[in-house]
Amino acid sequence: MSTGTCLCESVSWEITEPVDSTYHCHCSMCRKTHGASFATYSFVPIDQVKWTSNMDTVINYSSSASLDRPFCGKCGSVIPGKSSDNKFYYVPLGCHGDGPKPDCHIFTDSKAPWIGIADDLPQYAAHPPEEEDQPVYQNKELSPPTEGVLRGGCLCGLVQFEVTEPFRAIHNCHCTRCRRARAAAFTTNGFVSSEGVRFTSGEEHIKVYKVPSAKFFTHSFCDTCGSGVPRIDVARKISVIPMGSLDDDPRQEPEDHIFVEDKAKWYDIVGDLPMFDQYPK
Ligand SMILES: [Zn+2]
Ligand SMILES: [Zn+2]
Ligand SMILES: [Zn+2]
Repeated sequence: MSTGTCLCESVSWEITEPVDSTYHCHCSMCRKTHGASFATYSFVPIDQVKWTSNMDTVINYSSSASLDRPFCGKCGSVIPGKSSDNKFYYVPLGCHGDGPKPDCHIFTDSKAPWIGIADDLPQYAAHPPEEEDQPVYQNKELSPPTEGVLRGGCLCGLVQFEVTEPFRAIHNCHCTRCRRARAAAFTTNGFVSSEGVRFTSGEEHIKVYKVPSAKFFTHSFCDTCGSGVPRIDVARKISVIPMGSLDDDPRQEPEDHIFVEDKAKWYDIVGDLPMFDQYPK
């Protein structure tokens, strides 16, 4: 059994193993919804998921006629959603500290340019073989940046922004808060100054959740679709940009893995980026 919870712990659930399959999804919709470099989902038969909280904070966003992407409206974490045939839940594993190991990568044709796949799991360009009858997914390719401006936005499109400075740092963060906030194996955040981001629409749709016990940790998300969006922290003079929300190719890559001591047990870090137990040296 494995327990999952959203960042604010209003929504929680348990899954019973074995699950049907677990995959890393690199599609551009998962990137935006999670604000992460990719999402990891377990496909769990419906009777193997047990909700252990009330559902008062849950908001549903339908990203297509057949796909619901529910999230916690208080903290923005993606939570399990039901398949259209009502037989499975797709469970975002980032909300679980332990859980099933992923079997494959899907939608690798849509992979973020700043992420390499260094493990030897099977890779599928689009749907996995058992779902080849699914409708063809239209990948939204990242565009080259124009005049030094990187554009981005949430999945529903209400919140749009521009990053006007090169990233001064990009970290893959494995801390428990980031994993739950993005409901992903880790988050990839780019950092610029507090003047380096401007919202071009939908700023009124941005909701923030600060973890009560944290000094700074605050998650910003779209109140309609739950996607992670940039956080401008004027006091600390920084802005934190979830790389998964970008529409333009930043042509910069993460430099390390941080807070590796909190890493999800189901995720193995491979590749040659430096790893730090907590903050980078
Ligand atoms: Zn929550
Ligand atoms: Zn996906
Ligand atoms: Zn949105």
